[in-house]
Amino acid sequence: MAKGNIGVTSANIFPVIKKFLYSDHEIFLRELVSNAVDATQKLKTLASVGEFKGELGELKVYISIDKKKKTLTVSDRGIGMTADEIEKYINQIALSSAEEFVEKYKNDAQAIIGHFGLGFYSSFMVSKKVEIFTQSYKDNSVAQHWSCKGDPEYTLEDTIKSDRGTDIVLHIDDENKEFLEESKISELLKKYCKFLPVEIVFGKKKEWKDGKEVETEEDNVINNTTPTWTKKPADLKEEDYTEFYRELYPYSEDPLFNIHLNVDYPFNLTGILYFPKIKNSIELQRNKIQLYSNQVFVTDHVENIVPEYLTLLHGVIDSPDIPLNVSRSYLQSDSNVKKISNHITKKVADRLVEIFKNDRNQFEEKWDDLKIFIQYGMLSEEKFYEKAEKFALLKNIDGKYFTFDEYKDHVKENQKDKNGDLIYLYSTNKEEQYSYIQNAKDKGYDVLIMDGQLDVHVVSQLEQKFEKTRFVRVDSDTVEKLILKEDVSQVSLTDKQRDEMIEIFKSQLPKVEKAEFIVSFEQLSESSNPVFITQNEFMRRMKEMSALQGGMMGFYGEMPDSYNLVLNTSHPLIKQILEDEEDALNASITPVYDELSNVEAEQNALKDSHKDKKSEEIPSEEKAKLDELASQITTLKDKKNVILSDYAGKNKQVRQLIDLALLANNMLKGESLANFVKRSIELM
Ligand code: ADP
Repeated sequence: MAKGNIGVTSANIFPVIKKFLYSDHEIFLRELVSNAVDATQKLKTLASVGEFKGELGELKVYISIDKKKKTLTVSDRGIGMTADEIEKYINQIALSSAEEFVEKYKNDAQAIIGHFGLGFYSSFMVSKKVEIFTQSYKDNSVAQHWSCKGDPEYTLEDTIKSDRGTDIVLHIDDENKEFLEESKISELLKKYCKFLPVEIVFGKKKEWKDGKEVETEEDNVINNTTPTWTKKPADLKEEDYTEFYRELYPYSEDPLFNIHLNVDYPFNLTGILYFPKIKNSIELQRNKIQLYSNQVFVTDHVENIVPEYLTLLHGVIDSPDIPLNVSRSYLQSDSNVKKISNHITKKVADRLVEIFKNDRNQFEEKWDDLKIFIQYGMLSEEKFYEKAEKFALLKNIDGKYFTFDEYKDHVKENQKDKNGDLIYLYSTNKEEQYSYIQNAKDKGYDVLIMDGQLDVHVVSQLEQKFEKTRFVRVDSDTVEKLILKEDVSQVSLTDKQRDEMIEIFKSQLPKVEKAEFIVSFEQLSESSNPVFITQNEFMRRMKEMSALQGGMMGFYGEMPDSYNLVLNTSHPLIKQILEDEEDALNASITPVYDELSNVEAEQNALKDSHKDKKSEEIPSEEKAKLDELASQITTLKDKKNVILSDYAGKNKQVRQLIDLALLANNMLKGESLANFVKRSIELM
């Protein structure tokens, strides 16, 4: 029996493994199983080139647990190792500048294991002793037994082993008992080994018999050795891709499209990406793209390999050029990874172009589900925008789809304003903005539907990209002013008439939560509605942005929504209300207005005379006079407003008109709505 010290140049490897590699303990299983798979594959290769002439037999990898002995064993029937090979591959570990490196990456077990090629030694993270029983495929080689208790000392001796291959026996330590649980190992095998190219057997298949679960004779193979991405695209049907998606994400709806990646130069990459049909955001977090290296699961954190916006896709990527033990720092600096990322962007865009060109109908059918990915890509990656602007679609209220160019052609005749700017009208809610949409359509305008999660941002982006083009929400102004073709005619009301109408309508507005109204006037066509409610485009967008971003923009978010209550002074009903009011109130209100203007004149004259004087130069009786005039003005205004609001309160038409405008905006609720219904019946 040979004894020796494991060849470590500058530091003892075991404290490193035990002390620093406390995270990611579970990856030891992946390391051992993939070593076993490698040994098996190597033997197949040797057989195929005629260097191994014996019987291959069944080449499976077996995982077994012995609860009594507290061991976990990984067995293969691969090439095995001779004594010399154990010496070379297991006993000698080059650990140059180990301490420095370990200090730097002490929280990143992946990096340490990857750096030192310590796949096998990761078993010491969970074991107090590890044994190797191995029989090389080579003629005349003697089976070997290697044993080590997690210190630099090991023993190596000849042994007898009936079968070719290697058994790695882990004596699991007390802190890691969970790895003796069948359910735990089963879970890990499913996570890491689901698509390994050699059959992995964990116990026997079970079945239900007489109400009991019993073991069958059949091996419980946990993996699919030929996952769809390893096959040639030409040999696959659409259904095969869908089947594979279901295998990956059993509880999800079928995907929209798939993209089969297949590159062998300048790097090796295969995989299938799917555009998923998303029901909720939980699915986005759970169903991630999985990264494999030669069919061994590496990670589902693919942020650095796949461009950010494509991490929303589902599927698998397999590249032997990405080492098993990827650390974040590695991914960021690796040039292959950068190339892979660019390649994927290009592939995804090309595939979308292809579907768009070959089957526009299908593309349109799926657009509503697809658009979130495409928009996200356009917003976050300029290169993708450049490709996507040719196939991204805009949808109008009638459900018709247009490319950007097509839409421009569609509206350019009719929707230019007096400055030559093209105005794209859009709605964010077909139901709530119904009457505005209708008005715009009656005027021959087209209205886009922009009700997606990212549409607010897309609107801003397109405004920047398109020349002389603005997006205007359909309810942000009266239809005459949405697209200003010429200067609007001035409203012909006297100051007194304006003042009266403002008070009449303002006094009858019901309370609407978090909303402020400003009464304004416009001379629209007679056939337009008498009263409108509009919301300024700029203020609304500021609020929307602030809701999305918070922080600095919070100021806008705090403000109530500001609406315009627009009176159409051309409308017969508005004219009538003004006329009736003047007839009814002339006698009582004109004297008040006259007195008010007298007092205001006196106040102005007095203020004028004080213009060049300092405060202390003004006689105190004149100051008192100013105060008195001010309070007279307040009293007179109050008096006038009381007369007007009393009158307005009895005028059912005013309330009815306001309520109708609110109703058209979906703002009439609760008690106000009930009052409206009652009043409407009375009016009938
Ligand atoms: P890596 O797999 O990265 O080379 P490991 O520490 O996991 O590093 O393994 C070191 C070497 O030991 C392997 O390259 C292989 O030559 C040998 N080895 C490990 N496990 C087996 C096995 N089950 N059968 C045959 N050889 C093995």
